[in-house]
Amino acid sequence: MSQGICPSLQKNRANIGSVFSWSKFCYTEPCMRCPVCGEGDTKVVDSRMSADGASVRRRRECDQCGFRFSTHEEVEILDLSVIKTDGSKETYTRDKIVRGLKKALEKREYTEPQVQQLVQAIERDIQKKRKNSLESREIGEIVMEHLRGFDKVAYIRFASVYRSFEDVDTFALEVDNLTSHATSQAINQKDSK
Ligand SMILES: [Zn+2]
Repeated sequence: MSQGICPSLQKNRANIGSVFSWSKFCYTEPCMRCPVCGEGDTKVVDSRMSADGASVRRRRECDQCGFRFSTHEEVEILDLSVIKTDGSKETYTRDKIVRGLKKALEKREYTEPQVQQLVQAIERDIQKKRKNSLESREIGEIVMEHLRGFDKVAYIRFASVYRSFEDVDTFALEVDNLTSHATSQAINQKDSK
């Protein structure tokens, strides 16, 4: 996607009405080309902000061929360093969070949108810390917090990797606290099928 002045803005410069409508929809942001015909004249039909204000979905329509599509805009974390336990640093990527979540959720019931929601909630908490670097442990804690409310079994799996339990007793206690909940939840889920 190329940024800059929308080609249609230049094309329609003589037409004041168009310039105005484009200054509203297009001038302030890069022009979105139609995925079907490549036309730059796609207008925003509807714009909807998510409940938490972290993302916007725009319905667009191509002036040329009439194709309708939507674009999704969301906050992306940039330039965040993750300090690993060995002291080395790496750049934060959403991908790692997604992979970690899916690993923990293996063979559990979940949908793709649910994972996306989890990731968004996790990233919001990361952003709230307002730091340029975070320890991988801190991120792990945030992930655990959200997994705990979502799927207890996945939470335990994740926690067992991320939180290095000091001794087996602590771990057993943690599992004890949760398994009663988790199993009854799992049974309920199976029964309701
Ligand atoms: Zn088109």
